Formats: sequence, structure tokens, C-alpha cells
Amino acid sequence: MAQQNTETLSERVKALSHPLETGDETEAGNYFVSNYPPFSYWKPDMVDEVAPVLMSPTPEDTNLGVYLHIPFCRKRCHFCYFRVYTDKNANEIKAYLDAALQELEVYADKPYLKGRKPQFVYFGGGTPSYLSIGQLQELTDRMKDLFPWDETEEVAFEAEPGTLTEKKLEAIRDIGVTRLSLGIENFDDHILEVNGRAHRSKEAYRALGFAQTLGFDQVNIDLIAGMMDETEDNWKKCVDIAIEQDPDCVTIYQMEIPYNTTIYKEMAEAGKVTAPVANWSKKRDWVNWAFNRFEEAGYTVNSAYTVVKNPETTKFVYRDSLWAGADLLSVGVASFGHFGGVHYQNQADVGPYMQALDEGRLPIFRAYPTNHDERLLREFVLQLKLGKTNISYFQNKYDADVTEVFAEPIKVIKERGFLSIEGDEIRINRDGMLQIDKQLHEFFMPQHRDFERYT
Ligand code: SF4
Repeated sequence: MAQQNTETLSERVKALSHPLETGDETEAGNYFVSNYPPFSYWKPDMVDEVAPVLMSPTPEDTNLGVYLHIPFCRKRCHFCYFRVYTDKNANEIKAYLDAALQELEVYADKPYLKGRKPQFVYFGGGTPSYLSIGQLQELTDRMKDLFPWDETEEVAFEAEPGTLTEKKLEAIRDIGVTRLSLGIENFDDHILEVNGRAHRSKEAYRALGFAQTLGFDQVNIDLIAGMMDETEDNWKKCVDIAIEQDPDCVTIYQMEIPYNTTIYKEMAEAGKVTAPVANWSKKRDWVNWAFNRFEEAGYTVNSAYTVVKNPETTKFVYRDSLWAGADLLSVGVASFGHFGGVHYQNQADVGPYMQALDEGRLPIFRAYPTNHDERLLREFVLQLKLGKTNISYFQNKYDADVTEVFAEPIKVIKERGFLSIEGDEIRINRDGMLQIDKQLHEFFMPQHRDFERYT
């Protein structure tokens, strides 16, 4: 079956990619801005910068989040760029979870983190819902012993519909998950299949139904605009189905083809430059259509990627806190976090990751100590993804007037018709929000604009 899918993908790439098309076509690369400076500037020779922060006293006014990476999936999606394993048995998974807990244990003893209670906890992957009920219970009991959840405002958990039963969802709720995020991506079985997803629409409906009756604070569904074989008609149908399903929140991403995806591998082998997915203007049109449709149905657009049913009750603690400079204690293979302004990323493969822990070392692969200006820039660009931010916030926190510091990029984006300043607010309009990641690169420092290396 896997072989059949690979052949189909290969044929698709050969048939649909056009090497001479440029500009608006989707080419390989990762343009999504999730941090600053970009990961490619974090270096192994900067890892020593992490230890002094961990030995410094606990900060008084910085929130803490805990992230755990579960790198297991039933099957690798063709567009996936994460480090995932599809072949691990129960013993190997147990060994991995033990290693992640050991990592957490090392951190729990460091002066900078000792005694801190997380404001939010996030289980990402990979597929956290791939774990069994027993594994989840044991894992979270031990996590709570190390970093208690009694003051935690949000516990977010990513799930793949095909891994969920009613019983497992009950267990996920009972360990304390408040925000369940279902990776549905599309409701059409053909599109799910050609893009290599493990689940089908039947499983998505079933998981959504169980989740909504079990009383999670928030049920989110993820959709992707512009998957292979997506058409305008199907996309509209998919959005209408999502509205009928009545989730609390919907996250919509525009399909990208980063270099480490199976699709890119096929493109490289076939000598193709453009990917066999919709071009950028089409994807923007589709997301815009979706935002309008959700608004008609009573939802509110509250970032470049999300709509929420009730903005008063649907909180995004992890997002808002991270984008306002919270510390992130991140454990697990390939995961990335930061303490006191020092970014770090763990070893990307399970072997070196577990070996480092066996040898009593933290499994950090690369790091980057940010300076004042980089921290200011990071928070500013991330907050612009919300569609607005306040000048006074940066004045108070960084003693900086962002309209002066970023006068040039603000002028450029204003001239493009995407940005306005109204009183204390800097706003990005809908057209700007639909291509926010592309616009945000304007704010990057000259030394961080080498996009070839932006991985
Ligand atoms: S489910 Fe998510 S993490 Fe797993 S292979 Fe698919 S895209 Fe990657």
C-alpha cells in the first residue's frame, strides 16, 4: 500500500509540476515564521549559553510553558516536515517516554526552573494521541510530580482522528487536557488519501462527535488549504462541513512544501521546481473565502490562521503567552524551547537524543542567545500575526518605539496597503493577514535574511 502511494505521488509530481513557472507558484521552502531568529542561525557552538541561564535565579514575572514532543505517527503524510517515526514498538515508545521524563527531571532541579508551575502544557508531535491510555496516564502522572499542573490554565493536546476511541478521549480529558486539537486537514477521502494521511473522514466525524460530548473546554480542528488535488468546489464543501460540525475553533494553514517532505523529494528526483499544489494566490483566495464564510456563521477571525466561535471563552494561552515572551521548557526529540531569551533545540534523531540522556547530558543540539533587539523583533513579528499589536506594549517592555525601530519595514508594508497605525495600534488588514509570513520577513535583520538557509 505504501509503495502504491509513493508511485502515485511520483506520477502526480511528474504530471503536475511545471519547471518554468515562477512567481506565484508554490515552490519548495518553509516561509512560515514561528520564531526569531530563524532556526538555521541556531548553532551547536552556542549550546554552552544555555547552562548559565539554568543556573540563574527563578524569574519573577515570566510565565512558563512545558512542551512535550511525541514523534510517533501511524503513517508519514507526504507533506510532513517533522521528525516522525512510524515503526516503533511499545518497548521503544516506553524507552522514549522514560527518556523524555528523565530530561524533564534534570530541568526540574535547575535553579531557573525549580518550583515553577507551568501556565500551560502542550503535547505536540508527531501524534500524541498515538500513545496508549496507560502510557498517557503514567506519563502525565510523572510530569505532574515534576511540574505540577494545579495552576495550569491550559493543557493542549494534538490528536490524529484515526487514533481516537471514546475511551481514549475520556482518558485524555481525565488527565486534564482542556484544548483538544484534531488534525483533520480535509473532509474528503480522496484528498486525504493522495496526501498520505492515515485517517479518513469517517474517523474524523466519529472523533469530533465523541470529543464534543465529552466536555473538553475547547475542540479545535486543523484544516489545510491547497493540499494535492484540492479544488475550489471541494475546499468550499470542506469549509461548510467544518461549520456544520460546530467546533470551538478552527486553524487553517496554507499548504507549504518544506525541503524535508516526501513531496519535495519527489520534486527533486523529477527535476521539478514547482510543487503539485495550488499556487499562492489561489490558496489565499480559499482562506479568505473560508474566513468570510466562518464570519457569516458567527465566528471571529482572531489571527492569521484561526477563527473562534466565542472570542470571550476561547483562549489560546500557549499562543498568546509564547508570543509575549514566556519561557518554554521543551522536551523530546527535535523539540525547541527557550529560557531567559536563550533559544535551544534538541537532537533531531532518537539515537543521539537518548544517548545524551544516558550519558547524563541534556540532549541539546543547537542554541542561540538572543539580544535585546532580537527579542523585541521576535515578539513584534509574532504579535503581528494576531492582526494588531500595541505600540505602548513595546515601549513599556523594551523601552522602544517600534514605529521608529521598524520605520522602514512599516513604510514598505504600509505602501503595499496591508498595514495601518491607528492611535496606539498597529494593524494588519485581511489581505496582509493572508500573506503575513511573507510580509514579516521585511522586519528581519540583514544578517537573518538568507532564505536559502532558512530551514
Ligand atoms: S500526522 Fe502530522 S506529524 Fe504525523 S506524519 Fe502527518 S503531518 Fe507529520
